[in-house]
Amino acid sequence: MKIALNQATTMKRSSLRQDLELCESYGFDFIEIRRDKLREYLSEFSLDELQAFFRQNRLKPFALNALEFVTFRDRAGRQQLERELHELGQIGQTIGCRTIIAVPSFDVGEYSKTQIKQETVGVLQRLAELAETYGMRLALEFCGYPNCSVNTFAQAYEIVTAVNRENVGLVLDCFHFHAMNSRLEDLQQADPGKLFVFHLDDCEDLPAGALRDHHRVWPGTGAIDLDSILRTLRDIGYDEMTSLELFRPEYWEWEVEQVVRMGKETTERVIRRYFPNE
Ligand code: ZN
Repeated sequence: MKIALNQATTMKRSSLRQDLELCESYGFDFIEIRRDKLREYLSEFSLDELQAFFRQNRLKPFALNALEFVTFRDRAGRQQLERELHELGQIGQTIGCRTIIAVPSFDVGEYSKTQIKQETVGVLQRLAELAETYGMRLALEFCGYPNCSVNTFAQAYEIVTAVNRENVGLVLDCFHFHAMNSRLEDLQQADPGKLFVFHLDDCEDLPAGALRDHHRVWPGTGAIDLDSILRTLRDIGYDEMTSLELFRPEYWEWEVEQVVRMGKETTERVIRRYFPNE
């Protein structure tokens, strides 16, 4: 199991350049790049410099975060998404990053699950066709918030199964899985080939529906049954990557290096019981 850092973890005080250097020196295999951090980086450096960094170092880019609110958009919104996807496709091709995370829309109104499925499948099919021209994959990230149109593992899995394309899969985020009571039984039945990205985190002990991103804590120190999730992943044969993704304002105030070090340690401690070193 390879280990990645998602830049949300260091978001406030760090930069892409600093995250790259720290991830390389603390032995991360991958980084998940945030678009705001990339934009900031490109105001100072070029994409060629980023490409050169990944050529010269062990660290590789795993995913671009994210295409947001992809469903239930009007015509102008759909065109905007396509422009963003073209841009991300070019960037991905240049730096050797194959995956874009796609987030379903929030507060869409009173649509039935069938209508949401139909809309999300249609949108993913259109976007995936475009992504394919760049050799990119799309990973749908369901969010465990009551107002997200796709908020459980089962609902998201049903959607990507219906899309039925090799370049469309899922993000499994432990926080989102836990936050709306997704079921382990559903994960047990999943095809590991449909899991493109695995986000590791933990969270405070709030009830379903009340959890928000800022409640995330270091893996192994919160209320999520990570052991059951990791055991299930191992049992179904998923062992590609684990990406630490926290959005905790308290950690954003720390020295960035301390966050990266602590992130690596807590991630290793939690996952190595199920996925010993390669
Ligand atoms: Zn996530």
